[in-house]
Amino acid sequence: MKKYLSTETLTLAAIFMGIACGVWLPDAMLAFKWMGDLFLMLLKMLIVPLVFASVFVAIVSLGSGEALKNLGLKAFGYYFLTTALAVTAGLLVVNIIEPGSAHQLAGSAPVSQPKEHSVSSLLLSFVPANIFASLSEGRIVQVLVFVIFFAVAALHLEGKKRDTLSGFFDALNDAMGKIAGWVIKLTPLGVFSLIGYVIAKEGLETLYQLKDYVIAVLVALFLHALVVLPLVAYLIGRFNPYTYFLKVREAVLVAFSTASSSATLPVSIEVSETKGGVKKESAGFILPLGATVNMDGTALYEAIAVMFIANSFGVELGFSEQIVIFVTATFASIGAAGIPGAGLVMMTMILSAVGLPLEAIGLIAAVDRILDMFRTSINVWGDLLATKVLNRFIKSGSGPEATEHDLSGRRAP
Ligand code: ASP
Repeated sequence: MKKYLSTETLTLAAIFMGIACGVWLPDAMLAFKWMGDLFLMLLKMLIVPLVFASVFVAIVSLGSGEALKNLGLKAFGYYFLTTALAVTAGLLVVNIIEPGSAHQLAGSAPVSQPKEHSVSSLLLSFVPANIFASLSEGRIVQVLVFVIFFAVAALHLEGKKRDTLSGFFDALNDAMGKIAGWVIKLTPLGVFSLIGYVIAKEGLETLYQLKDYVIAVLVALFLHALVVLPLVAYLIGRFNPYTYFLKVREAVLVAFSTASSSATLPVSIEVSETKGGVKKESAGFILPLGATVNMDGTALYEAIAVMFIANSFGVELGFSEQIVIFVTATFASIGAAGIPGAGLVMMTMILSAVGLPLEAIGLIAAVDRILDMFRTSINVWGDLLATKVLNRFIKSGSGPEATEHDLSGRRAP
């Protein structure tokens, strides 16, 4: 009986109950929103200290700038490969299904002129001018950049000073992991409230109005998540991705209900270490990095959305424009923050690259939140696979603190 009442099973049941109550009891679900907000706030409370501590500990545990460089290069190589495959899957499916026709323009939601995002402003936004401002505003990419410098600098300190720092952050990391474990117990309630609220507010009918587009996005996302990504993970990482999924599915369910990779991060780190058998050097470094730069679901979605918009405007986008989409969708997914709706905002980068009006995002805004839930799940699933794949290339206990701290992982599975 206890097995059937595990948090994972309850969370899955909560998703279906949330959808049902969102459809049939919308007023109750709107009133119950506070529960989801509370769950989200508890997760968000953990993000900054957890990212800081886990990345610091992971890098110091790796033991040298050289080991970090090796892992970092492998991570970026893997991210690039899977993101490229995701955009390709998106373009392939959208060229087959061809969603969008001129009449759809009539139903577009009015939006104010959105701000344009350029590649150079994106690169500059990665660097923190004031780390305390970045910490207090929760700018994860900037925190990551700082903590990478900080941890590499720590590796260059003499033994005693380095151990003082790493002992502190190791303890902080474990304490945050404990809180994450408690918050995870609230997942079923949080998920129920978050999903019920979205369905009550958005309704499922909007999905039907843009059904070709919704189908194209979902088909491509499922193709990438169930076939492409597992195959790549198996070939490079040599593990069974489907049994791994069963162990870490909690994080994917949280991603689905929160539509935020960043908010899911505490759960991803916790379940991949405690249930997925991932070393903390891998989970602690690869997951925060992935949550901010590796977004396969978003990249794929951007490619389909821009093609759909072009079709609706009666604009033909040929092979060369699709190459531009390929490159800009990749950058847009790297630049998108791990928060709800970030992918929609980054669409402006691609629209301006192919010469479509920025207000055109109004066309797809109505269904964005629900599609965001699916693409965020794929973003997080991609990160969970990446950390398990790269785990294979890490020698545990290679860091300088191996002698002082237990580097075998946070807790036994
Ligand atoms: N919500 C997504 C995430 O957090 C980003 C997006 O909007 O595509 O991963």
